[in-house]
Amino acid sequence: MSDGASSITTAIAQVFPDALQLTCWFHMQKQVKVQMPKKGVPKDRRKKVHEDVSALQLAPTLTVFHSAAKKLCNILRQHMLIKSFISLCHRMLTDWSWREVEGREFQTCPPSAKLGTEVRAYHHLQESENESFLCNQIVRGTYIARGSLAGEMRFSRWSRRFTRPNFKSFSEYVVWSRAYYMVDRREDGSLLCSCPVGLKQYVCEHSVAISVAKFRAEFNPLAKSLPLGFKRGRSRPKKVGSALSLV
Ligand SMILES: [Zn+2]
Repeated sequence: MSDGASSITTAIAQVFPDALQLTCWFHMQKQVKVQMPKKGVPKDRRKKVHEDVSALQLAPTLTVFHSAAKKLCNILRQHMLIKSFISLCHRMLTDWSWREVEGREFQTCPPSAKLGTEVRAYHHLQESENESFLCNQIVRGTYIARGSLAGEMRFSRWSRRFTRPNFKSFSEYVVWSRAYYMVDRREDGSLLCSCPVGLKQYVCEHSVAISVAKFRAEFNPLAKSLPLGFKRGRSRPKKVGSALSLV
């Protein structure tokens, strides 16, 4: 696992030609940040470049990733006009997707859901569109959950792009990547989602919502009474008054 520095990847490829090389997402992003000023990317464009590169993390398959990365490189080429940065970015994106890690899992048992996640899942199901979307699915292996941008893309279009990821623009990919998420049910019964939280192998609101909607799991009763955005602090949650308060 390296940060995408060519000296490291080339050396490993020479000494251990059969080793699976991965680029650490966190360090790759750090590299992008460090390299932008060095390669002359103007200050006012750096945030956007960083956000665009981050959006690629949500690509669930290699074909989607390649299609979106190609669009991103085109944007950089046409609008940024920073050749030295484009070649660096292109190399890093190729390195990053050098080999698929399909079938390899780094953690077999995701940590259990936190209360804040249950609260979000409860509110997710309170929206009738989300609830009926989940309840109408009869598949047993992979479920689909509505993401934060589901209102901006119909599911039929999303699935067409999934089968053939010929995105019209990079921004179409960005909407696509947050419109719907795939939730896989694994052999041990656990659910793993393609959303940003699920990618880290944490239990997310979508997998909890599916457990409740499809597998008769039950919410922690506390989750139903807490507001959206609840976070467990070190002490009592701010929005919940003390039990004996007369106000
Ligand atoms: Zn999720």
